[in-house]
Amino acid sequence: MDLNARIPAGQLEKKWDRHRFEMKLVNPANKRKYNIIVVGSGLGGGAAAATLGELGYNVKCFCFQDSPRRAHSIAAQGGINAAKNYQNDGDSIYRLFYDTIKGGDFRAREANVYRLAEISVNIIDQCVAQGVPFAREYGGLLANRSFGGAQVSRTFYARGQTGQQLLLGAYQALERQVRAGTVTMYPRMEMLDLVVIDGRARGIVTRDLVSGKIESHVADAVVLGTGGYGNVFYLSTNAKGSNATAIWRAYKRGAAFANPCFTQIHPTCIPVSGEHQSKLTLMSESLRNDGRVWVPKQKGDKRPPLQIPESERDYYLERKYPSFGNLAPRDIASRGAKEVCDEGRGVGESGLGVYLDFGDAIRRLGEHVIRERYGNLFEMYQRITDEDPYKVPMRIYPAVHYTMGGLWVDYNLMSTIEGLHVIGEANFSDHGANRLGASALMQGLADGYFVLPNTIGDYLATARPAKVDAGHPAFREAEAQIAERTKRFLSIDGKRTVDSFHRELGKIMWDYCGMSRNEAGLKKALELIPPLREEFWRNVNVPGSDAHLNQALEKAGRVADFFELAELMCIDALHRTESCGGHFREESQTPDGEALRDDARFAYVAAWEYGGDNEPPTLHKEPLIFENVKLSQRSYK
Ligand SMILES: Cc1cc2nc3c(=O)[nH]c(=O)nc-3n(C[C@H](O)[C@H](O)[C@H](O)COP(=O)(O)OP(=O)(O)OC[C@H]3O[C@@H](n4cnc5c(N)ncnc54)[C@H](O)[C@@H]3O)c2cc1C
Repeated sequence: MDLNARIPAGQLEKKWDRHRFEMKLVNPANKRKYNIIVVGSGLGGGAAAATLGELGYNVKCFCFQDSPRRAHSIAAQGGINAAKNYQNDGDSIYRLFYDTIKGGDFRAREANVYRLAEISVNIIDQCVAQGVPFAREYGGLLANRSFGGAQVSRTFYARGQTGQQLLLGAYQALERQVRAGTVTMYPRMEMLDLVVIDGRARGIVTRDLVSGKIESHVADAVVLGTGGYGNVFYLSTNAKGSNATAIWRAYKRGAAFANPCFTQIHPTCIPVSGEHQSKLTLMSESLRNDGRVWVPKQKGDKRPPLQIPESERDYYLERKYPSFGNLAPRDIASRGAKEVCDEGRGVGESGLGVYLDFGDAIRRLGEHVIRERYGNLFEMYQRITDEDPYKVPMRIYPAVHYTMGGLWVDYNLMSTIEGLHVIGEANFSDHGANRLGASALMQGLADGYFVLPNTIGDYLATARPAKVDAGHPAFREAEAQIAERTKRFLSIDGKRTVDSFHRELGKIMWDYCGMSRNEAGLKKALELIPPLREEFWRNVNVPGSDAHLNQALEKAGRVADFFELAELMCIDALHRTESCGGHFREESQTPDGEALRDDARFAYVAAWEYGGDNEPPTLHKEPLIFENVKLSQRSYK
């Protein structure tokens, strides 16, 4: 397997410009002759499909929801980063680049991250032009707030609904192309396989989730913008439907999977309240602009928060990280919460919670200001917990939120399969081992609006894919495999629901491959997963038929893939014996408990190649070369 990242030569600041000049172009009149499949209609896929349509390509866009505007991106709350420096507080493209490289604990490619920072400013212009209602200052300029891991204010937001507003912008652009006839939208269709012919991605096979019909779609290039795989843990902040099936099936067709174990645990989620729960709710990081995180100093102090005097509270983030305080990056803030709870100082009934307190901010700014900034988040919290966060501190605890791992892509966002491009959360992304808040929206939109539309043209103009049609045996074979698998799920007729298997798998992953990991635990997970997977295939119960909407059947396919992915995540976590960002190996920490990297041995992207059923995957390494930043121990003190 060739892991050529194709990073352009030359000065960091000039790479993208020069690359765009050097890439081949497709003549405007020829663009309509090319068919491109985009799977996904979130901020990555939606932006890409709209832009490719506008450029004149013939685009088919797929999503499993009933409308593209229900993609999980709609849930994004806090904001999107851009190096506009409207605040005049010292921001620049270089600073955003540096913060992102450092935030990812030096496990991302310099060239990609610099390009991301560069494009961030164009994203804001484009979205404003679309009419995205970003918050504004009194004078009319767009407002900013701060997010973790940065000492400047560069996060653009639309109250606590930034993802929704950005998605509406992309959706409008997409629908315009649908109307113009350049994009055909296929909602409620699930991609279940990638078809590779002569080493190139030539199409997909889908199942219509309403009628059950299995269909082939041919293309000259395929783009996956299918989101993250945090739901492998069962409980996460992701939408219930988010899954790994598209990228997992592509992996099994030859696309390398990079850094699968890099998972982001978000520090501010509503704590788990019981076994009945099927998902967790995020409380946006933006709340840490004004909320102060604390626990009682005394172990086992069960007094209500308002009865605990200032002198008996431990604002542990402010104490340990005076420079960044409550805005320490997510991995650090999450581990901080775990540590105080492990010490027996956690709050709430389960003891797995810390306070996020707005008392000071309300006294200083007035309740109306807090209401204006975070009103919808406070309302959501109150509805879920029945506690009023204007009066008592919120209770929060870390939860699985984002996956930095994903399919490996080169600088052109192309995977190890020629013609298969991967964008947004589905690729292994520019975030290294930890994602800073507000940078996923930035990356998804950079990929979809600006990078892919340039690079895919180079692929088409260079490769000039030959004609194939859906009658090709590779399509027939993939269709038959899907039909067979569907039949198998429906015939097992076992005793356990799909959800019960998923919940058990998620618990194994959370316990042994979650917020902190160690060799014994990972080995244990690798012992526990295969028999559970074997039981799943023997004892799962999928009622109903495949000729109508059948959510148990949909879930069964996704959970089957999660089982396999979970194993790969544990293998990856086990091999990386260093700690970096969200991957915390207990064996590798500094004397004061911070993540300790091992640059001599692990400054690389781990890209795994599928080895076949029941065969181990093969590890390939893409060395990370840092020419512009100096590798250093990350410090937020
Ligand atoms: C609660 C929450 C809040 C967040 N807040 C922020 C924030 O404030 N700022 C920030 O930067 N990031 C935030 N994030 C992260 C960010 O929202 C996501 O990383 C980003 O929206 C992912 O976009 P995407 O386009 O890659 O994927 P998604 O939006 O997940 O879209 C995936 C698309 O792929 C389709 N799809 C998937 N599989 C298939 C298949 N097999 N067949 C057909 N279609 C398929 C889906 O239908 C969907 O259209 C948040 C995440 C969560 C969970």
